[in-house]
Amino acid sequence: MPELPEVETIVRGLASVLPGRTIQAVRILDPKLAAGLSISPSRLAGRTFVSVSRFGKYIRFALDDGSSLVAHLRMTGKFVYSPDVAPPGGRPAERHLRLEVSFSDGSRLFFRDMRRFGTIRHVPAGETPAEEQATAPDPLSPGMDEARFAGMLAGSRQAVKVLLLDQHRVSGIGNIYACESLFRAKIDPERGGNTLSLAESRRLLREVRAILREAIRHNGTTISDFRSVDDKTGDFQNWLRVYDRTGQPCRGCGTPIVRIRQGQRSTWFCPHCQH
Ligand SMILES: [Zn+2]
Repeated sequence: MPELPEVETIVRGLASVLPGRTIQAVRILDPKLAAGLSISPSRLAGRTFVSVSRFGKYIRFALDDGSSLVAHLRMTGKFVYSPDVAPPGGRPAERHLRLEVSFSDGSRLFFRDMRRFGTIRHVPAGETPAEEQATAPDPLSPGMDEARFAGMLAGSRQAVKVLLLDQHRVSGIGNIYACESLFRAKIDPERGGNTLSLAESRRLLREVRAILREAIRHNGTTISDFRSVDDKTGDFQNWLRVYDRTGQPCRGCGTPIVRIRQGQRSTWFCPHCQH
């Protein structure tokens, strides 16, 4: 499942190639894979991409008529841009292609999705997507400032770790980022949100943002991807301080890292460093 930093990386990539390109044709390549697609190819033909942006883990493609496409990659969705001019009807010999967008300049955009959970929806001009209304601001968006973050924590007795993962309160913080930011902020993941001081809440938000930005600098690479890239492994091991390190010594104090369960998810933390 792509996390916020990966989606941001994808958005930056798409934003560097799509704006200004005019759609010639949209083809749904596999009708069986079309369940998550709520688009009408004929209504997209002739439209030009204006911008690509992100809210939470959604990707928004703004079009020149004021309408937009809103996509979510879910488990395995992927956008692939091909600058090569292809022979008519020719496309990569790849499985799991759901959608092909051909541009007037001959380049193409594909949506590939093995597990078929990804969604793309055409939202009419002047309408705020329901997905956007239901998505809390993420820590990197202007909507999540210190005051809102502190208020979110102060308003609940739930464990701070659980609050960080609650996408209705703050979006885009995955389990790795929640565990690592609590360690760096030296905050015990089991504390109730309403027990954090303003200074602690600020520190936590600062660390969450720093970690997300670091991950974006690493091109949003996930743990599993990172492990498959040999030359980056050492780098990444230094980066993770508590996540998936049960029983290993804390990098700060040597105390064995503890793993607990919170809201169906594992939490790793240092019982000595985090209060
Ligand atoms: Zn420690």
